[in-house]
Amino acid sequence: MPAITRDVVVVGAGPSGLTAATELKKAGLSVAVLEARDRVGGRTWTDTVDGAMLEIGGQWVSPDQSALYATLETLGLKTFDRYREGDSVYIAPDGTRTAYSGDSFPVSEHTRAEMDRLVAILDELAAEIGAEEPWAHPRARELDTVSFRQWLAAHSDDEEARNNISLFVAGGMLTKPAHAFSALQAVLMAASAGSFSNLVNEDFILDRRVIGGLQQVSLGLAESLGDNVFLNSPVRTVQWGNDGVTVLADGDLRVDARRVVLAVPPNLYPRMSFDPPLPRRQHQMHQHQSLGLVIKVHAVYDTPFWREDGLSGTGFSAAELVQEVYDNTNYGDTRGTLVAFVSDEKADAMFELSTAERKGRILESIARFLGPLAAEPVVYYESDWGSEEWTRGAYAASFDLGGLHRYGRDQRTPVGPIHFSCSDIAGAGYQHVDGAIRMGLRTAEDIALALGNAAH
Ligand SMILES: Cc1cc2nc3c(=O)[nH]c(=O)nc-3n(C[C@H](O)[C@H](O)[C@H](O)COP(=O)(O)OP(=O)(O)OC[C@H]3O[C@@H](n4cnc5c(N)ncnc54)[C@H](O)[C@@H]3O)c2cc1C
Repeated sequence: MPAITRDVVVVGAGPSGLTAATELKKAGLSVAVLEARDRVGGRTWTDTVDGAMLEIGGQWVSPDQSALYATLETLGLKTFDRYREGDSVYIAPDGTRTAYSGDSFPVSEHTRAEMDRLVAILDELAAEIGAEEPWAHPRARELDTVSFRQWLAAHSDDEEARNNISLFVAGGMLTKPAHAFSALQAVLMAASAGSFSNLVNEDFILDRRVIGGLQQVSLGLAESLGDNVFLNSPVRTVQWGNDGVTVLADGDLRVDARRVVLAVPPNLYPRMSFDPPLPRRQHQMHQHQSLGLVIKVHAVYDTPFWREDGLSGTGFSAAELVQEVYDNTNYGDTRGTLVAFVSDEKADAMFELSTAERKGRILESIARFLGPLAAEPVVYYESDWGSEEWTRGAYAASFDLGGLHRYGRDQRTPVGPIHFSCSDIAGAGYQHVDGAIRMGLRTAEDIALALGNAAH
């Protein structure tokens, strides 16, 4: 059995684990990163499918994501604007399609006023409660014991307004139905992006992309770590105690270390055996954190034909199978690419169908936004993260109803030599690569401090 010894062993070579490892190395500590897959990047994965470069996982960068921007700068990676000239398309509950410009959906005055009012309330809550410790706010329990759907129903009698607000958080971010998570969880999602207004503004939240793909962040970090990154090494066992840890991975790899960083989403902690078992609190908490489900659909065309019709490629509809569609053309590409999202229960229904039926239904839906040409892409691909053993959903984890105020305060607390680091437990940048990096920085700092102190 190859046995190595390091100061810190990191489980998972996504952006969070690789950031932690990079920082620990800078602090003079020795590291090993063990990755289950045959590649680094985790939920970021830039691949070429039938000749088209696709962002199969995470891709967008928003202006507030300063931790990610700092890493991009260090790695010499450049970004480009999402195409957004021309009209967007809104499909109303009755199926009416309207091209519109500006930030507001083309809805009745009443619905618009209700949407604005709901956004204002959620902005206020996000500002007051914040992303760092939402569980510590005096209203945490009240807001965490009501589902977001019920909360919306209690605050507005306008169904279209409620469904449109829901679209941004439920289908659009947590990728769970609005009855499955709390109002507090929705407020955390908003606060982590600065405000609810930011979250509902696609020009903010989906602002820019990385030229060449977002996975390059992980590839760049891994390159500097060299042969300290071990691919195809799923960690199966973590033996831990006061003196440190021994981590056992496939390939008979054994790492003895003073600390371990679990840089995997919380739904995967129970995939590893802990000896001794984790404490009761962690056993319980981890059963309340689950990933959502979304199909990210990529459709590539010979040209971005929608632009000729004066359309930006952006479309929204809470009533459609595809609830959001955007122009996702690669930097400098003459071909046109659309990206579309089918979320939670709609995704369940699609996975009941055959591959051909599903493709047909999804393309018909995109065509209702952007015209019949949309039904005939030259490349079509569905990102299916729910089937990936080392992820099991998309985009990230959230607590079930009542879980955030009950367990949140312990999700980042180390257990002996075991530390936790991933985007799913971040405050700012929650569920995003920015949050993954922030958690990596924070975890490395905590460990460097603890080991530095222990050495003196
Ligand atoms: C379809 C999709 C679209 C997204 N869009 C965006 C976006 O536009 N912008 C954005 O910022 N974010 C987006 N995200 C979210 C973003 O990709 C994640 O938040 C980020 O990748 C999380 O990083 P992480 O390092 O915390 O976890 P991960 O990226 O999940 O990395 C964890 C790593 O741990 C490995 N692992 C798991 N178990 C084990 C084990 N037992 N042993 C060893 N290794 C293990 C996994 O293989 C993986 O490589 C998207 C995600 C998806 C899936």
